[in-house]
Amino acid sequence: MRAAVLRSAGGVAVEEMPAPRARRGEIVVEMRACGLCGSDLEKIRGTYTAAPPVIGHEAVGVVAEVGKGVRGVEAGERVFPHHHVPCGTCSVCRGGSPTMCAHYRATNLEPGGFAEMFRVPAWNVGRGAVLRLPKAMDFEAGAFIEPLACAIRAVDRCPADPRSALVVGAGPMGLLVIQLLRLRGVERVFASEVSPVRIEMARRLGADPVWDPREDEIPVEARAETRGLGPDLVVVATGHIPAIAEGLGLVRAGGTVALLGVPEAGGRLDYDPSGFVTREVSLVSSNAATEAETGKAMGLIARRRIDVATMVTHRFPLRRFPDAVRVAQRAECVKAVITP
Ligand SMILES: [Zn+2]
Ligand SMILES: [Zn+2]
Repeated sequence: MRAAVLRSAGGVAVEEMPAPRARRGEIVVEMRACGLCGSDLEKIRGTYTAAPPVIGHEAVGVVAEVGKGVRGVEAGERVFPHHHVPCGTCSVCRGGSPTMCAHYRATNLEPGGFAEMFRVPAWNVGRGAVLRLPKAMDFEAGAFIEPLACAIRAVDRCPADPRSALVVGAGPMGLLVIQLLRLRGVERVFASEVSPVRIEMARRLGADPVWDPREDEIPVEARAETRGLGPDLVVVATGHIPAIAEGLGLVRAGGTVALLGVPEAGGRLDYDPSGFVTREVSLVSSNAATEAETGKAMGLIARRRIDVATMVTHRFPLRRFPDAVRVAQRAECVKAVITP
């Protein structure tokens, strides 16, 4: 079979390899769609250090083989298998940080989601991480379950009921957050973004106004829209480090800045920390998601409460994976989806 995998020397290659077989407790899934995520691009560039070097975690497909001892999953079913699963019982899980569980990143799809077939570990299968896709949900929409789950967790970790919010960066994650905030009744959702395609999409999906940091003084504009106070919530949906400092500076006193984009390791934040206290600014971060969120994400996509189809601008077959990587770095691409 064909699979796109990281090269040990860096970069990515599409290789032929033996198809995986399901051992006890495992399943093998025939991939039908897998979204290309910003973190995949970082892993290919070698700048993402927070997780093992496996690419492709927004994968959906059809169960091809079921190992001995597996219950509740059958061959032929259309599924979303989550790549990381917490134990649910350790003190970190019980303390409310399941994505920080020592088991969470210990397993993964093998060889990854960008493969004609991939194996789902027994740990994941046995802990309810394989969701059956509703009949009406196409595979491409299913590829958004994982990213939407991450966006849901980020929004859930913020204080409830902000009245105004600024989403910095309208890439796939920012666009999902914009829609979630609108869905939760946030009256004013603003966005900032440089790519014309993403600006247009942010407008279509509920942000108003959408500013371009190269043309607009965002702190000035944001205050003007919020009676001089600044937005209650700023969600930084980009890894761009100066955006964090800008968010901390323009959020309303007493407000929250939520970090969802992963900054490249080794960067430095230029911010006077006295503002955390004198302006009572809170900083919240969110990383990944669990089945509590993947279930909600699947429901929102199935009921079409979140528009994911609009976000797919590019589709590539697996053999053209290197082209997908090139295109996904360009401003005119929002979400690229890989198919077999
Ligand atoms: Zn992702
Ligand atoms: Zn745990």
